[in-house]
Amino acid sequence: MSPRNKNTMLVKLRNDSQWSSWTWQQKLRLHGKHGLTRFFPNIRRKVNEQYIKYIKSYKIEITPYLLSLIDYDSQGNPQKNDPIWKQVSHIDLLSNVKSADYNGVNLNWEMPEEIHYSILHHKYPDRAIIRLTDNCLGYCSYCYLAQRTLDKKRKTLSSSFQIKWNGTLEYLRKNRQIRDILLSGGDPLLFSNRRLDQLFKDIKDIESISTIRINTRALTFNPFRFDPELIRIFKKYGLTALEVHFAHPKEITQEVDDALSLMDDIGYRPIILWRSPLLKGINDSCGILEELLVKLYERRIVPYYLFHYAPYSPARSNLSTSVKKGVRLLSELRRKIPGIAFPRYTLFHSSGKHDIPLVQEGTNEFKYEILANKQYIVKFKNWKDNWVIYPDLQDN
Ligand code: SF4
Repeated sequence: MSPRNKNTMLVKLRNDSQWSSWTWQQKLRLHGKHGLTRFFPNIRRKVNEQYIKYIKSYKIEITPYLLSLIDYDSQGNPQKNDPIWKQVSHIDLLSNVKSADYNGVNLNWEMPEEIHYSILHHKYPDRAIIRLTDNCLGYCSYCYLAQRTLDKKRKTLSSSFQIKWNGTLEYLRKNRQIRDILLSGGDPLLFSNRRLDQLFKDIKDIESISTIRINTRALTFNPFRFDPELIRIFKKYGLTALEVHFAHPKEITQEVDDALSLMDDIGYRPIILWRSPLLKGINDSCGILEELLVKLYERRIVPYYLFHYAPYSPARSNLSTSVKKGVRLLSELRRKIPGIAFPRYTLFHSSGKHDIPLVQEGTNEFKYEILANKQYIVKFKNWKDNWVIYPDLQDN
């Protein structure tokens, strides 16, 4: 028996005939007050107390499928350093808040002046993001959208969605320079197939929109979401690209391969683009990144973005590397994998994303500096030709 199967609750669930139903997975997910003890009856009392305190303010939800990928100790508890468990078990990660960590106030990406009808994010001229929901199929410790997704103090969007959707469509009709739409969230694949079909139709009815993308983490949290009907909807409306997120090679499973094969069987595979943050202790080694990127390439998934950790996101002090560490890793990786499998190394800045030059000492337009208060920063010229500052960490 592999260490992974030492959790008796998961062994039992795995044998359930409904295991491959995505709605069953969501229903049986770890969540709520008894979530941790239901799956891990031997969990330490102190950990459970931290969990209960954490969920008063923040969300944790983990499907049995994802739990089944984690390695367990002899007591049936998750191994502390398991790369999947580390991504979703953020119960102690808000206790050590430092500068540029999550504080529920500072924004890192969704600037109020760029948001229309609460769900339409228009940052760049030719494209827009529609945030269909604030909920996800599971929650990542490091979410750069934590104010909307993880933080329970924020209101959800669901109550008057139709009004917001109608306003969004009106905005798109008036702003004909927008030709590319990214459906995102939270996770848009929480919506039913019927609802998604209608939303696609509404967007496709706008003549100036030529391409549609979907951004999802379903392949990691609940790959069973890719049912035949959903893929037929992608085919019907010609979904241009599917943006997926795997942070560690362990997440690429037989179930992921089955979802990809289903697309081939139905005869429709959009461009599949990969994105993930660089995470300390999870994927910040050349060997792990090489394995992950090669696995993606083998599956015809294009490695698109490796993001540097976004500032003002939870767990930054625990899970972020310095920018320079990322540059070193990518420089080492460059000749180990084919160019097509090599992603852009990019950082989030409220003024727009920025590609990081793979030059240790920086360049004339991308400088590493230390401020008088000992704060490490990078300073760069953004796409609007303005100098902007990004809070960094001491080289680690
Ligand atoms: S799935 Fe995406 S939006 Fe949801 S918590 Fe994870 S990173 Fe954030």
